Amino acid sequence: MDAAPRIVDPRPRPDDADETSLRPRRLAEFIGQPRLKENLSIAIEAAKGRAEPLDHILLYGPPGLGKTTLSFVCANEMDAPVRATSGPAIERPGDLAAILTNLEPGGILFIDEIHRLSRVVEEILYPAMEDFTLDLIIGKGPSARTMRLPLPRFTLIGATTRAGLVSAPLRDRFGMHCYFDFYPPEELATIVARSASILGVPTTSDGAMAIARRARGTPRVANRLLRRCRDYAQVRADGRVHAGTVDPTMAMLNIDELGLDEFDRRYLRAIATSYDGGPVGIETLAAALGEERDTIEDLSEPYLLQLGFLQRTPRGRCITRSGCEHIGEAFRSRPDDPRFQGTLFS
Ligand code: ADP
Repeated sequence: MDAAPRIVDPRPRPDDADETSLRPRRLAEFIGQPRLKENLSIAIEAAKGRAEPLDHILLYGPPGLGKTTLSFVCANEMDAPVRATSGPAIERPGDLAAILTNLEPGGILFIDEIHRLSRVVEEILYPAMEDFTLDLIIGKGPSARTMRLPLPRFTLIGATTRAGLVSAPLRDRFGMHCYFDFYPPEELATIVARSASILGVPTTSDGAMAIARRARGTPRVANRLLRRCRDYAQVRADGRVHAGTVDPTMAMLNIDELGLDEFDRRYLRAIATSYDGGPVGIETLAAALGEERDTIEDLSEPYLLQLGFLQRTPRGRCITRSGCEHIGEAFRSRPDDPRFQGTLFS
């Protein structure tokens, strides 16, 4: 298995320890995602005007785009206490019951990776979200009875990287559904400049842009790349982050001008050369590359799809013409192949 940590991994890593200090605290400081921000600011103002808690909110999007940050922003804007946990951390119904009964009125409960809640735990959430009640089953067998406890009114903010894995009954109980998009380089450059000023790293606008272009649309990756550029600039140059220090840092990290790393290129090359451009099944690719299927689906594919280098078809993955051009491989067009009808050449 390819166990080497990837600098472009959008999930949190131990070297992201200073992330908390880089988190925007207010909606006005939160850069980008204009549609989502507009919807939320209206909801926040309306809820405050009625002196009610916010509706339950479900945040969808790949890791590192600001779902946790935005949940804390909502709490700050509502002046509400927040309790954060995650789907896998809530193992038993009793764990969730304990959390719910300890919430303060108007408080926010943030559940990251909500698609990973077990079904029995999820069922506790339904009446809690709908009626602010907790249904407890006391005893076992024929003498078991249900006790209904009132809960304080609260807001649940759920976050998920896998929209398709949130069950329909859970999904339907959220009043707001917010989708995060990858950030364009201009917005990422603003995020880099903001982080650089918090970290006290002198950074030029061309330096911020050079990092932004390689950050795969993801603020967490942008901040991580900034820290690596800061180290390089400090040790090998005059401490300033500019295009002249970003380019060699990226070369050293083996990250190309679009932010692809060694693994992404190996992945594209495997489809292009070992499987004639595809279609090839994800399991086959995972085995060939010695990587977990989930890791490929979460880390590499969303960005490669966004770049238009990859297509997902019912028969498997295909590399596109621009994907081939990027890795310097010939694009094999096979319009006679019926498997491609309606996919690659449509
Ligand atoms: P997620 O919960 O989606 O994995 P986080 O909310 O933990 O992502 O964000 C990762 C880091 O990226 C945060 O620490 C924050 O510094 C930065 N970040 C995310 N979104 C923004 C944004 N819109 N503006 C500025 N920084 C951001």
